[in-house]
Amino acid sequence: MTWDRSSTIALAKYHCSRCHGLGMLFWAYHRPRPCPCVLRTIFHACLTRYRHAQARKEEEYCADFVLLAKRILDPWHFRLFRIHFLGGRPWSRCIGPLRTNRGFFFHCVYRVQEILGRALAELLPYPLWPLDHYFHSNHTLGPLGIVWRPQSTQHYRAIDPDRLPSSNPNGRPRGLNYHIHTELRQAAAAHAKE
Ligand SMILES: [Zn+2]
Repeated sequence: MTWDRSSTIALAKYHCSRCHGLGMLFWAYHRPRPCPCVLRTIFHACLTRYRHAQARKEEEYCADFVLLAKRILDPWHFRLFRIHFLGGRPWSRCIGPLRTNRGFFFHCVYRVQEILGRALAELLPYPLWPLDHYFHSNHTLGPLGIVWRPQSTQHYRAIDPDRLPSSNPNGRPRGLNYHIHTELRQAAAAHAKE
């Protein structure tokens, strides 16, 4: 996924106060980056597709979606993701089990949407976004689980391949291992059904 105006403008919120509908943020001395409103749009498109896929028993997509969240979020944020986004519980029934309050809960909701929106589009080698490419590309390797261990389970970290140390001789970014792993897939599918 290359982030540029042509890929983000259609996804941006028209009245976004940060990007004013352009979908990109331009800061001095920084590379242009996608606006959070774009990342949230991507996340919600993939979440909607997940609900649709569950109804049709498209287990591979469901597993990839849940696995990605599980790899990237720390356990607490993943629990929020599971009960609020996958389970569809309203905030009032989430803050009890998560031991938090309404304000903090919604901060975390935005954070999860933005982190996952970015990861869904940037996942290598096969991002889930754009969904058309995911469902209609002719790669034959099957779905991939991304195995990645954050240094600390207390902090989520989005995968940003650009910030990783330089590539290994085999061309993959160091620190990221891609596994074609049936067990992982099944575990995530079972997880999603819980
Ligand atoms: Zn925006």
